[in-house]
Order: sequence, then C-alpha cells, then structure tokens
Amino acid sequence: MNRREFLCVGAACLLGMLDGQKIVEASYYEPMIYKRFFQFTEYEERPVTDALVIHHTGFLNVDKDSTAAAVHKFHQEDRKWAGIGYHYLIRKDGMIEQGRRPQMIGAHAFGHNKHSIGVCLAGNFDIGKPTNAQMKAVKELCRWLCRKYGLDPMKKGVIVGHRDVNDTACPGKHLYKRLGEIRRFCS
Ligand SMILES: [Zn+2]
Repeated sequence: MNRREFLCVGAACLLGMLDGQKIVEASYYEPMIYKRFFQFTEYEERPVTDALVIHHTGFLNVDKDSTAAAVHKFHQEDRKWAGIGYHYLIRKDGMIEQGRRPQMIGAHAFGHNKHSIGVCLAGNFDIGKPTNAQMKAVKELCRWLCRKYGLDPMKKGVIVGHRDVNDTACPGKHLYKRLGEIRRFCS
C-alpha cells in the first residue's frame, strides 16, 4: 500500500465515522475507492437509500474514458449542478472514483435522486462494451453498497439501469444486458 492509498483508506474510515455509519462487519468488503474531495455548491443529505442506479457517461458517438474530476467540472460548469451528479465513477481500467459524497443527494436520475445512489461507468455502451475491469469493479462496488445499506440485490427495483426509471438509453445496451450478472454477484 503506498502513501496515497494509505491516506485514502484513512479518510474513508474517518468519513465513515463522521457519517455515523455503523461499524462494518468483517464480511463487508469495501473495494478500493479513490477519493478526492470535490467542492460542491450545495450539500443536501439523502434521507433514504433503497436503490442503485447504473449509468454510463454516454458521450455522443464516442466510447471513451472519463475521470470524476472531468465529469465534476462538466456537471458544475455546463449543467450548473452542485457538482458531479454520480456518487461513483468507474474508469475503464476499473478504478473506482468517488464523485458526489455518498450521503448526499445526487443528480443522476430525475425523480429518484432522493432515494438512490448513482454509479456510472465511463464509456458509451451503445457503441463499446464495458471492460472486464469495469465489470469486476461495478460488481464489487454494488455488493458492498447493498451490504452497507441493507439492500436485497435480487429484489425488483434495487439494482436498476437508468433507463428503468427515466426515458433514456443509459446505460447503453451492452451494459444494460449485464445487470442480471451484477445482481447475481451481489446476492
Ligand atoms: Zn444515466
């Protein structure tokens, strides 16, 4: 573990305590999450968490990688949102980056932000396919989130694609068809 990773883990522990989250049990496995603390123009806590909404970045006509920092800048400056709308962004190499702080209300699924976490994979999955590293990361992240929030991954409406709740192609056909695989891994 290098110094940066050590500090990230330390920050995660500290945040966990500040959030008032219960101490995780030994069976909980938090994947390595790269945490940078973006500045948001407003903070509002999410009252309840009963769903994980899966997205792709879905840039027009291009399947490309993105960083949480780039999405944060785009959502804040172009969309005029508080900051990055997703709670997690998964890079093509499988790195999980924290976006919006986990306890905050996100901006990723209209009408559903107050009760869900937004998990976004970098790419356009109507064109390309999620990488093996991204699939491994999203499975581990969702499994941990289901345990953290006490969710049953096989229950209808718990792990959903953005298109299940809004009129959108997101998260693209090549990721959408693999949601069952994610649910089964989490259960
Ligand atoms: Zn989406």
